[in-house]
Parts: sequence; C-alpha cells; structure tokens
Amino acid sequence: MAILPLSAHQSVAIIGAGIAGLACGQVLANSGASVTLFDKARGPGGRLSSKRRPSATLDLGAQAFSVHNADFQRAVDTWLSIGCIASWPTATYQASPNGWQAHNDGQKRYTGAPRMSALTRHLADSLTALPQAALHTGTSITSLKRTQKGWLLVTAGGITHGPYDQVVVSAPPPQAHALLAAWDDDLATACQTRKQRACWAGWAIFDGPLPAIPGVDPDWQMARVAHPTLHIVSRNQTKPGRAAQPESLSLLAQLDWSEAHLEQPASEVARQLLAALKSLFPVSATLPDLIETGAHRWRYAQPAAACEHTYLYSGNGLALCGDNFCDGRVEDAWLSGHRLGKALIGRSV
Ligand SMILES: Cc1cc2nc3c(=O)[nH]c(=O)nc-3n(C[C@H](O)[C@H](O)[C@H](O)COP(=O)(O)OP(=O)(O)OC[C@H]3O[C@@H](n4cnc5c(N)ncnc54)[C@H](O)[C@@H]3O)c2cc1C
Repeated sequence: MAILPLSAHQSVAIIGAGIAGLACGQVLANSGASVTLFDKARGPGGRLSSKRRPSATLDLGAQAFSVHNADFQRAVDTWLSIGCIASWPTATYQASPNGWQAHNDGQKRYTGAPRMSALTRHLADSLTALPQAALHTGTSITSLKRTQKGWLLVTAGGITHGPYDQVVVSAPPPQAHALLAAWDDDLATACQTRKQRACWAGWAIFDGPLPAIPGVDPDWQMARVAHPTLHIVSRNQTKPGRAAQPESLSLLAQLDWSEAHLEQPASEVARQLLAALKSLFPVSATLPDLIETGAHRWRYAQPAAACEHTYLYSGNGLALCGDNFCDGRVEDAWLSGHRLGKALIGRSV
C-alpha cells in the first residue's frame, strides 16, 4: 500500500506508550510532526513494567534484552551512556529439581537501571521535552472516528481528542482490533491472525537470602527453569542500582501453565510459583520468610509465532506497530516503532 509521507506540522496520535509507540513518536517528533501519545496505564512502559513495593522494586515484564540490529545497537549505546540501562545478567543458570548448571549462551544482555521502566521513562521524558510532543497517561482510547478534518480519538471517559492526520496503534492485537475493526478490514484481519500467548508473572520478597545450592555461585542472577509451572527466576537485587533491596524475585510462569491457570486468583498463582521455586532447592533447605508475594496476569504477553512484518499501514491514515507485528522481543518492538516512524516520514528503512 502506498503511503503519503507526513510533512512537518502534520499531526499523529499514537495509542500505546510502550517501547514501540515511544520509538515511533521519537522519529516523528524529531522530523517536526506534532505527536500525541495515549496510554491507558498510569505511566509509559507497557510490558517493560516495574512494580514498586516499599522494600523492593521488581520487573514484571521483560527481565533483560539482547541486541542484533545495528540501529538498535546505536540506541542501546546511547542509553548505556545516559545510564538508563546497564549490562545484566552475567551469572545465569539452567535449573530443575534435578540440578543446576551454569549457562552462558555468549549473548550480551541489558536491563533498565535502576529498574526496567527507567528505559521507557527516559524515552518518554526526552520525547515530551520537545514542544511538539505530548503524552496522556491514564487515558484509554475506546474508539476512533473519521471526519473530513482527520481522525478523532474517543476516551473511556467520553472525551474526544483530535483531529489527527495519522493514527498509530501500538497496543496488542486484540486491543488494536477493537479500535480498527470499524475502519480498516486489512489491519483488523492482521490483528485477528496474530494470536497471543498469556503469561503469569509472580513476585516474592524475602527477609533473607535464598539458601545456598552446592556448586552454584551464591550471587547467581537469573535461572531458566525446566519445570511444568516455572520458567524464569530473576533476582531483582542483583540488577544494577538495586543492591540495597532484600531478596526479591520475579517468577515468570511457563506459557502453557499460564494459559491453563489464567483465571485463577493471583494469590493462588503466587503460591504455586513459590512451590515450584522451592522444588529447585535441596529438600533440606528452607526458604527465608516471605515479606510479600503476588502475581500479575499478562493476557497478551507475546505473539504465538514470529511474523514477517515489522509494521503495517494502510492508505487511510491508520498504522500498526509493536512487537506483535514482528517477533515479540524488546528489540523487535523498538525496531517496529522506529521503522514505522521512518516510513511515515518517507525515509528509507
Ligand atoms: C512476562 C514477560 C517477559 C518478557 N521477557 C522478555 C525478555 O526477556 N526479553 C525481551 O526482549 N522481551 C521480553 N518480553 C517482551 C517485551 O516486553 C515486549 O516485546 C515489549 O515490551 C513490547 O513493547 P510494545 O511497545 O510493542 O508493547 P507494550 O509494551 O505492550 O505497549 C503497548 C501499550 O499500549 C497500551 N494500550 C493498550 N490498549 C490501549 C488503549 N485502548 N488505549 C491506550 N493505551 C492502550 C498499553 O497500556 C501498553 O502500555 C517479555 C514480555 C513479558 C510480558
């Protein structure tokens, strides 16, 4: 589908201020377009979210990300120099109730510093420092309307924003479908065909360190787990800038298990994830006392399959980006938004 390049002074609404929406907004605002982002959550970040509790901060979405693309590497180098990300983890294991093995796939990874959401907070702050950009958080967009002057966005509270020349939707496909179904058959169909996997992300804060495991570095940072319930254990106090917090674990469940237990109460999910954690330690070991535990349900955690697109757009001023229209990682999400932004301003990608 041909696209008319946006010119400076044209206006763009971006629904979703995760890393894809922010990357798209940055390219467009830097080109001089007027950019307004909307996110239904209290802050930007989407699945790069962190939970702040009185004694610890825990990352509940992505724990770390890797880099393969040169454009993304340049962005990562900038974020490293600013200090909103840092290298992590360096001590990783494969764990199961039968034993632990050190695991190093040679891939360098990064995490937000001092929490994952510091990266998207930095992107949002640098974007909204531009006079032509704005971010409305706590604003759920429930429908779009087309007028002769452009697109209008209607919020859950019945407020109308716009008109805009271009609307970019970076929400997960089921949420994007609800907005686009009335206006664009091709984009709506693309949303319907991108099936999503769900994931429970548990967390637990303890009043002391985890028991030692024979042969395992006591400062291990992350473990990939072979267990029917538990998939990843990540120790938040080993992440850059969080050494002062107590033992604080993110416990990501297996996707199959998450989907089979999707409607269970969070407290029950947390209990089962903790039982799985306990099974990774020697029978004689006792876990320290719990300060707090809980679980977050991600209904749309990642796409079920990779996809050949990076972004999608139609000639009527509607476009889609986000990790769900590529491969489901932080890097894919950033590239999707970045490349869509460049396509919209008519530069090669
Ligand atoms: C548990 C978990 C673990 C992960 N682990 C890794 C990992 O180790 N490495 C890795 O690279 N990636 C990982 N990922 C994937 C990574 O987090 C995502 O690829 C990336 O964050 C997606 O960014 P995005 O901008 O495309 O989407 P999102 O971050 O989902 O942003 C979409 C935004 O749209 C907003 N929104 C939705 N509907 C509306 C609406 N109607 N109105 C307004 N706003 C709306 C949402 O609030 C959200 O902020 C993980 C994800 C999860 C859930």
